[in-house]
Amino acid sequence: MLEHISWWQARQLFQRKKVALIPVGSTEQHGPHLPLGTDFLTAQALAHAVARALNLICTPVIPVGVSEHHRQFWGTLWVSPETFRRYMKEIARSIASHGVRRIVFVNGHGGNNAALQEICRELRAENIFAVVWAWWLDPEVQKLTDELFRSRGTHAGAIETSIILAIDPSLVDRSQIDAAARGASEIFATTKDGAQLPLDTIDFSQSGATLDPREASPEAGQKIFQKACERLTALVHWLEQVSDDELGVKPHLP
Ligand SMILES: [Zn+2]
Repeated sequence: MLEHISWWQARQLFQRKKVALIPVGSTEQHGPHLPLGTDFLTAQALAHAVARALNLICTPVIPVGVSEHHRQFWGTLWVSPETFRRYMKEIARSIASHGVRRIVFVNGHGGNNAALQEICRELRAENIFAVVWAWWLDPEVQKLTDELFRSRGTHAGAIETSIILAIDPSLVDRSQIDAAARGASEIFATTKDGAQLPLDTIDFSQSGATLDPREASPEAGQKIFQKACERLTALVHWLEQVSDDELGVKPHLP
């Protein structure tokens, strides 16, 4: 974790390592029972666990992202996608300036994905290979959560509530879980007949949650956390071993 080491120690790390982690999330409503920091706290906890185990470069967490669609809920913070793209891209470039050109954005917030994917393409053209890893979209994590829960709600539902119970149970207000479930929507309902709708969360969820957080448990959270760490570790190992040729932009066809 760069915030905990000196430039002297960072020099050794940058000279030895090929991959850096940049944890990023959001500060946004997560129903009446979860903290506003749910997404960045989760991204940070996952990135720290894997960075510790593999002795990786890991930047401080970026705690505010693209969250304007939650703005009717008190305390939500956001920046525009334009600001976010530029800020994240410049952080990636500063990592690359120290010689590490393979980067994982350890992302905890769905609203950040599109912007991060765009900058990953742009960075590749600068010979910086960055990828977005969103823990809840990993197929093996999804297989596990399908086995653990009947409900499929992601935002402030059973999955995120379990993860926060595993990270720090004091952050979950259990007295509000029933209220979260009562006002929750069936899904994160931003599609209709194949179209993406420009809705805010308030349009389909009165509590800010999706589906049933009552299914959550710390045990389930531990399992999800562990599986997510395994998957991030596998991604880092691939990035450490893959050749520059494979990652680079290919030349034009003859
Ligand atoms: Zn979240």
